[in-house]
Amino acid sequence: MQGKVAVVTGAARGIGAAIAERFAAEGARVVAADMDPMAGDAVVGRIKQAGGEGRFVACDVTRRDQVAALMDHAIAAYGSLDVVCANAGIIHNTPFLELDDETFDRVVAVNLKGVFYTGQEAARRMVERGIAGKIVNTASVNAVIVPQGLAAYNASKGAVNQLTKTMAVELAPHGIRVNAIGPGSVATDLFRSAMLTDPEAMDRLRARTPLGRPADPAEIAGAALFLATDDSAYFTGQTIYPDGGRLALSHVMPK
Ligand code: NAD
Repeated sequence: MQGKVAVVTGAARGIGAAIAERFAAEGARVVAADMDPMAGDAVVGRIKQAGGEGRFVACDVTRRDQVAALMDHAIAAYGSLDVVCANAGIIHNTPFLELDDETFDRVVAVNLKGVFYTGQEAARRMVERGIAGKIVNTASVNAVIVPQGLAAYNASKGAVNQLTKTMAVELAPHGIRVNAIGPGSVATDLFRSAMLTDPEAMDRLRARTPLGRPADPAEIAGAALFLATDDSAYFTGQTIYPDGGRLALSHVMPK
């Protein structure tokens, strides 16, 4: 990652912040993008304090103009666009029969259309400049298993997997690789606060996760780093699942 220019969306907290900080620690120049400037600035502050290079750019990934401006900003500031992580995402828990249009549209706008805008605006600039870039989308185990009450989220993440494969095939002739990470439960702020109000949530998590614990965001960042470097040079169109064994458990046959 030394000297590479990496854009990470949803970088103000959680998995995106961990990816931004890890990439910077590996020598990348990081553009951390998010809708939350205060938290985003704090992430860039930590990157700089650790001796890394980074900057924050305010960006709503549901707005194509803002995503385009984000990519232009990275190129103007650092002269390249080598790695782009389309990580921003939201979740909404509603039973299917009660799911309204507005909620469905909002989840799809951030989780799917945001990934489309981010990937397309990045790839167009990579192709123009002959950059053999790497795009890493954030999907979820929910792309393939079916936690209830999450119809919009599950559908958006399943679509991210299919978009990842299609992008990989169409961008391979340009030397651009496109892969995704599909985390299981990750101990982000949201998860930690849920644990405080619902102590049984940890028991449920243990029961469905062979490794018996949530991932630390840094463990997800390690998977993103692999897909962002030449260590994964023969990977494209794949989703890899840092999930503590959850998908394997979902395939266990009843005795
Ligand atoms: P988080 O809520 O901790 O962080 C998400 C960040 O995205 C926030 O900083 C938020 O401001 C930003 N964001 C939201 N909407 C945005 C928009 N329209 N434009 C730009 N930024 C926006 O969430 P997280 O747990 O770190 O999740 C990151 C990604 O990982 C998401 O795509 C999520 O679906 C996925 N994921 C999370 C888990 C988990 O257990 N936490 C598991 C699987 C997948």
